[in-house]
Amino acid sequence: MAEMLQRRADIAFTVYEKAGEIGGTWRDNTYPGLFVDVLSRQYEFLFQPNYDWSRKYAPQAEILAYMQKVARERGWYRHIRFNTEIVAARFEAGTGKWLLKTATGETDTVDFFVVATGFLAKPTYPDIEARESFAGRAFHSARWDHSIPYDNRLRWGVIGSGCSGIQITEALAWKNVNVTQFVRRPQWIHIRENPHATWWERMKLRLPGQYQKRQRELWNFIIAGDAWRLRPGPEREAMEREYRSYLDVIRDPVLKQKLTPTYHLGCTRIPKSDQNYYEAVQRPNVAIETRKIARIVPEGVALGDGTVIALDVLVYATGFDTHTYMRPMQVIGSNGVSIDEVWKENVFSYGGVGVPGFPNMFLLYGPFAPLNNVPVPIGLEHEINYILRLMDEARRRGATVAPTAEATERFRARIRAALPGTVWVGCKNWYSDGEGTPILWPLPQDQHADFFAETRLDDLDFLPSSQISSS
Ligand SMILES: Cc1cc2nc3c(=O)[nH]c(=O)nc-3n(C[C@H](O)[C@H](O)[C@H](O)COP(=O)(O)OP(=O)(O)OC[C@H]3O[C@@H](n4cnc5c(N)ncnc54)[C@H](O)[C@@H]3O)c2cc1C
Repeated sequence: MAEMLQRRADIAFTVYEKAGEIGGTWRDNTYPGLFVDVLSRQYEFLFQPNYDWSRKYAPQAEILAYMQKVARERGWYRHIRFNTEIVAARFEAGTGKWLLKTATGETDTVDFFVVATGFLAKPTYPDIEARESFAGRAFHSARWDHSIPYDNRLRWGVIGSGCSGIQITEALAWKNVNVTQFVRRPQWIHIRENPHATWWERMKLRLPGQYQKRQRELWNFIIAGDAWRLRPGPEREAMEREYRSYLDVIRDPVLKQKLTPTYHLGCTRIPKSDQNYYEAVQRPNVAIETRKIARIVPEGVALGDGTVIALDVLVYATGFDTHTYMRPMQVIGSNGVSIDEVWKENVFSYGGVGVPGFPNMFLLYGPFAPLNNVPVPIGLEHEINYILRLMDEARRRGATVAPTAEATERFRARIRAALPGTVWVGCKNWYSDGEGTPILWPLPQDQHADFFAETRLDDLDFLPSSQISSS
C-alpha cells in the first residue's frame, strides 16, 4: 500500500507501526524451521522481483531481509512512524475525516484510513489450567526466546500441531534436542523438497522476458492446481491419497495411527515440512503425546491420566486470534457504532476490503480475503488497486465512500453459497469461529481478480460528509 501511495504525487500518507521495525509476521516469528509455505517467487512484491531467493521456499530471515531491502531502496522508511500504535479511530461526520489516536495520546486527522494490521498477528494461548505455574521457560512461538541453547540436556515441550508446531518440532528434532510434541489433533502435512536455487536458475530469471514468462506460468499453475479445494471429485481423492502416502515412512503402527488425520485434507491450513516431519518424529530424541493435557504444573505438563511430562522449556505453538483483525483498536463508524458492535455476531466485509457504515475505511485482507488460495502479494495487489480507484472516485465527487449494506449482504450470500462442497467446511478450523461463515474466499482464484477489476459503483455509497449522521 505504501508503495502504491508513494507513486502518487497528489497523496500524502503516513504508515503507523506499533513495533520498531517493518516486517510484521516475518519480524515477529523467528522460530527455527520457519520457511514460507508458498514458492518464494509467489511471495515477493510484484513490483520488485527477487532473482536471488536461495531456496525454492525461502527461510524467514531471508524474507525479512528482502522486505527491509525493498523498503530501504524504495524510501518507505521516511513515511513510517515506528513505535506508534493506533488505539482508536473515529469517523467525524462533520468533517468527513478520521480521527486517529495513538497509544501515547497523540491524535492525527486523515481523509482515508487503511487497516493493514494483519490476520495472523495476535498470539493466542490455550485455555489450560495453571499455565503460570510452570517453573521452566515458556513462550509463544511468535515470541521465540533465542537465549535458550539447543542443548540436549534440556527437555522441550511443544504444544500444538498447526503450521508452527510442525515446523518447530521438526527443526528441534533434527537439532538433536529432546522434544515432546503435544498433538491434540493430527494434521495433514505436506512433505516437500526444498532445494537450493542453482546458479543457472537465478541467471535464467534475469534473461529478457524470462521472469515474466515464469511468473505467468506459475499463476496459471496455481489457478489450475487448486480446483480440488473447491469441489469434491477425483482430484481431491488423488490429493488425499498422496498425502496419506507420506505417512508410510512411519515404521511404528501405533505412532502412524496417532499421526493419521481423521478429517478431510485441506479443511485446516496445511503445514509444510521441508525436512520430513514424519522421519523427524521417529528420532530417539522425539516423543509424540496425544493424551489430553489436564493442567500445567511447575515440573511440566500433567496429562489426564495423571502422568507428568517433565520439561525445562515449553513452547506454545497455539496460533493466533484470527477474528479480531484491527481490534482491540476502538473503531467508530459514521453513525457512532463501533466495529465491535457491527461484528458482534460474526466478522464480515464487502470483498475483504470495506464495511458498510465505515466510510473511507479500507481493510487489507479483511474477512473473506483469499487466505488459502491466492498468494498474499497477488491478493493484495487486487485489493490495493481497487482501493486506490475508490479513493480517486470519492475525491472526484467530494464525497466519502463505503460499500452499501445491500451489496455487502449480496456478497456474503455469494460466499455462503460457494461454501458447500469446499474443503473448508466439515471440521474445526481457525477460519471459522464455529458458528459463522469461514473468513476466507471459497471461490475460484481468478474470480478474486475479476471481483476487483470492476468498480461496480452501484455497490457503493458516495455521501457528502454533511449527509452522514454522527448520532
Ligand atoms: C508463522 C507464520 C507463517 C506464515 N507463513 C505464511 C506463508 O508461508 N505464506 C503466506 O502466504 N502467508 C503466511 N503467513 C501469513 C502472513 O501473516 C501473511 O502472509 C502476511 O505476512 C500478512 O502481512 P500483513 O502486512 O497483512 O500483516 P502482518 O505481517 O501481520 O503486519 C501487520 C503489521 O501491523 C502492525 N500493527 C498491528 N496493529 C497495529 C496498530 N494498532 N497500530 C500500529 N501498528 C499495528 C504490526 O506490528 C505489524 O507490523 C504466515 C503467518 C505466520 C504467523
